[in-house]
Amino acid sequence: MPNSTVCLSFDFDALSVWLAYDRVTPAMLNRGEYGARVGVPRILELLGRHGLKATFFVPGHTVESFPAETDSILAAGHEIAHHSYAHIDPSGQVADEERADMERAWAVLERLGVQPRGFRSPSADLSPITLELVEELGFLYDSSLMTDDYRPFRPRIGDKVSRESSLVRGREARFWELPMCFELDDWVHFQFNFDPYRKGGAPPSHVLEIWRAEFDFMDEHVDGGVLTVCMHPQVIGRGHRIAMLETFVEHCAGSGARFASLGEVAAAL
Ligand SMILES: [Zn+2]
Repeated sequence: MPNSTVCLSFDFDALSVWLAYDRVTPAMLNRGEYGARVGVPRILELLGRHGLKATFFVPGHTVESFPAETDSILAAGHEIAHHSYAHIDPSGQVADEERADMERAWAVLERLGVQPRGFRSPSADLSPITLELVEELGFLYDSSLMTDDYRPFRPRIGDKVSRESSLVRGREARFWELPMCFELDDWVHFQFNFDPYRKGGAPPSHVLEIWRAEFDFMDEHVDGGVLTVCMHPQVIGRGHRIAMLETFVEHCAGSGARFASLGEVAAAL
């Protein structure tokens, strides 16, 4: 089936993801810096060689900590989108904290000359008000939910449901959802960690099998499908993994897929 689109997205978390954990140690922070020092240049080289445009979700904390690396993403013509300021899980924030963090990150991107079109939650989780904030701030799209897989849709705001009461649907949001999933997230497969414990360590052949099969199913069964792959420079940047990403890109391109940023896809809906 024709018209498949692949969106390569990179969450450039750098130090912020480690600072958001309870156990902040210098060695863990240095794992985050690997994303800036090695991951971003390696990804930009790969994207440039294949002539692909991608989306980078960059927390305000990363923009300010690694300005040269952030500039190199912009200079290469990629989309930069909103990924909070401090990478705190919004589901654990009170409303004022979440709003302040979102506005601070927006201001950092504006100083960079970026008017962000998209938002991705730093934890792939939401508070009860996150989607309202996304709409209020005027984003064109969100990419945090797993309600669908290959089809952009309008998420609902204001659902009511509990263990005792069945679902009462809220209204449709004014922005698009470009769904992501953990199966297409490199962190889940690859990133080992002590605390909080993450098994990680998957061989790239295993992940390539999943990603390729996701693309092939979509390409065969869903007309105009959009496959959103979520990666992190500090994870996918390792040699054995970036080689896998290139194999995946070549597979999708060989099947006739087009590659686009999430912003481009949302703007054309
Ligand atoms: Zn992140």
